[in-house]
Amino acid sequence: MGASLAESSVSSSASIDKPQQADLDRCVHCGLCLNACPTYRELGIEMDSPRGRIYQMVQIASGAPITDSYREHIDLCLACRGCESACPSGVQYGRLVEAARAEIEAETPRGWLARTVRNFVFRKLLPSPALLTAAGAGLYIYQATGLQKLVRALGLLRLMGPFGEREALAPAAQIPFFFRQIGKTFPAEGEKRYRVALMAGCIANVSFARLNEATVRVLQKNGCEVVIPAGQTCCGALHVHAGIRDEARKLARRNIDAVLDGGFDAIITNAAGCGSTLKEYDELLEHDPQYADRAVKFKSLMKDVTEFLAAIDLNRNMAPVNATVTYQDSCHLAHGQKIRKAPRQLLTAIPGLKFREMPLSDICCGSAGIYNVLHTDLSMQILEKKMANVELAKPEIIATANPGCMIQLEVGVRRWGKGERVMHVVELLDEAYSAASR
Ligand code: SF4
Ligand code: SF4
Repeated sequence: MGASLAESSVSSSASIDKPQQADLDRCVHCGLCLNACPTYRELGIEMDSPRGRIYQMVQIASGAPITDSYREHIDLCLACRGCESACPSGVQYGRLVEAARAEIEAETPRGWLARTVRNFVFRKLLPSPALLTAAGAGLYIYQATGLQKLVRALGLLRLMGPFGEREALAPAAQIPFFFRQIGKTFPAEGEKRYRVALMAGCIANVSFARLNEATVRVLQKNGCEVVIPAGQTCCGALHVHAGIRDEARKLARRNIDAVLDGGFDAIITNAAGCGSTLKEYDELLEHDPQYADRAVKFKSLMKDVTEFLAAIDLNRNMAPVNATVTYQDSCHLAHGQKIRKAPRQLLTAIPGLKFREMPLSDICCGSAGIYNVLHTDLSMQILEKKMANVELAKPEIIATANPGCMIQLEVGVRRWGKGERVMHVVELLDEAYSAASR
């Protein structure tokens, strides 16, 4: 499929990018979702509960104006979709909140600076390997040369106000970046059973380069020829969460064109947050006559790496990993993709590994894309509770299935932990396979 299709665009009309009445009508206001909602659990305010937010969306749909108060309550939602799992009426809250944010985005005038920063981050930086490489190199120099220690020691962060407070939330830049692997093919180990494509992410190429490499190795060990398709780009998840659906649609078209016709048995991601959006390209492009069918096909091939590995005949040639491990459900895996068993099945397949559940493992850790940067105080309150639950399981390792959760849990370990390691499920498998090969 040529670039001309990728360039085609269906204008995001106001009628589709807002909460749809049929979706709103599903809510019977029973309140059974309230206890599953991290913001309601923290704040105890009805307007910051799923039911309260839906009630406010209904008011807007009935003609009420979008106010600052509405913006704030919708903005404070983590979009974790815990309420979706709890709802007996099948309310698709994720769809609702994403549409509400798109409607807010379209109707919110922003000042020049906010508009410029927002446009740069979402429309230039995230889709551009060159700009992400430059930003990653800057971050690496800051973190690795002692500059970060100096800035912290001199107390300069305090002078930078809110920006300084958020500096500790930045993930480590990992050189060499994974961008150098894009376009390459990695052969299966042993008999080739599958040909798969790996979506490498955007920021993950810089900050989770080693996780991406581990993912390739684990797939190779399981008989996969792994292609990192050229032309792939950011999945658009952060755009969808921020209500910037026109740019998300452009990215979706680019990814579909880069990957769909490669003859793959599966398209794989190791990031649950990206996976949720990649699996919803059909919704994003449902009104695009050129891409609607291709998006449905793309979705049918899209798999989280844990989902894929748990469904195949797993290579059991692993050395023991003698550690106690608990698992934090990534919201977009458990609630967004309804995948809970697969990561646990993989963890318990590792010999020597002692698996111990923590209470409330499927309540959000407060990461939620860039929520921890935008709403740091509430995010940290939620994280502190999470770490108290982690502590009850007394693990040596906290496993999860999403890079964003890993960043947040690492902050949690630094602030409230007992020195636990934070690892992706795939990294534990990689450790077990690598030790068996030595
Ligand atoms: S979202 Fe579901 S659980 Fe929550 S109030 Fe509405 S119907 Fe009840
Ligand atoms: S998505 Fe999460 S934070 Fe938002 S209303 Fe639902 S449970 Fe609450």
